[in-house]
Amino acid sequence: TASDTQLESHFETLPSNQPMADEIRDNILQNPGFGKHFTDHMAHVRWTVDADWHGHQVRPYGPLTLDPAASVLHYGQEIFEGIKAYRHADGSIWTFRPEKNAERFRRSARRLALPELSDEDFIGSLKALLAQDHTWVPTPSSDADECSLYLRPFMIASEAFLGVRPAHEVDYYVIASPAAAYFKGGIEPVSIWLSSHYKRAAPGGTGFAKCGGNYAASLAAQKEAAANGCSQVAFLDAAENKWIEELGGMNLFFVYKDGRLVTPRLTDTILEGVTRNSVLTLAKDAGLTPEERPISIDEWREGAASGEITEVFACGTAAVITPVGELVTENERIRLQGDGNNEIAKRIRKTLLDLQYGRSEDKYGWLT
Ligand code: PMP
Repeated sequence: TASDTQLESHFETLPSNQPMADEIRDNILQNPGFGKHFTDHMAHVRWTVDADWHGHQVRPYGPLTLDPAASVLHYGQEIFEGIKAYRHADGSIWTFRPEKNAERFRRSARRLALPELSDEDFIGSLKALLAQDHTWVPTPSSDADECSLYLRPFMIASEAFLGVRPAHEVDYYVIASPAAAYFKGGIEPVSIWLSSHYKRAAPGGTGFAKCGGNYAASLAAQKEAAANGCSQVAFLDAAENKWIEELGGMNLFFVYKDGRLVTPRLTDTILEGVTRNSVLTLAKDAGLTPEERPISIDEWREGAASGEITEVFACGTAAVITPVGELVTENERIRLQGDGNNEIAKRIRKTLLDLQYGRSEDKYGWLT
């Protein structure tokens, strides 16, 4: 469409003279794993305090040249996003609610004192990169094949200056990486570790922003989880050590016997997932009653024991929707009663995937 062309056109493209050979790329796309392989190009836009955003380009993928004094390397002034491109059966390529990611990226930018990027530049950069690297978007071999091209926009403070203040020079990039399903076990329920000591976010902090520092701070807890046989960490609130917040990289939902679907309400310590927001809408269509409110670890324990809570699931762009089989802590394992079928999680998961892969009507206009 005219507006599509407009969004791409302000990016100048410098094609790579060493793109990966078709055969090697196709081989990678057969079995891409997650985040290991990268496409031939990247998008880039530069910001300076004097010239605003400029130099919109798609150029060959490759190492960045950074001054060792670049402030991102010292003070972590960095934000990022994660969004997937899906290939539909007719060969066309679609992203899911990119305007939500653009909005969150601006929210993150404000918190990290970085410059805000417009929808036009954010969505335009995705379109321009996809226009160049479209052969890297894998084609699903069946409805069960959850392959996609994962897009990673990020922004770094690149000014060479060791004073602690917001940088006057900033770079924005988008890289792309073909992806298979995130968890190897597919939709097998995962075990989650409850971090009793480490906190992800504090009131007034950066929990609601998607900044690298949040993930750096979660790694020690993630290590603890792995040592305890768990694939993800659940975090409690920092103030009372009582309220469930989210996982290291996913939001949490609780399904109740009476049809309520509860998720922790948004505060400045929780990252608002695009998937979370979509699940809240789709749940109503599925006849569930969504509730956003505080939910405590005691409620999880008691609801699991009484059978009041029938399913727990985690959701995010990378892993879509994944049932949580058990919550493991230093001195207990909280398991749900019942058949462990996770029927609701599976149903919402299918609804979401059918939408994203163009197998059902896009009635909310979520695809771009
Ligand atoms: N919480 C955290 C901490 C995350 O990193 C993510 C992944 N971006 C999510 C939740 C889920 O967000 P989304 O559904 O937008 O991927």
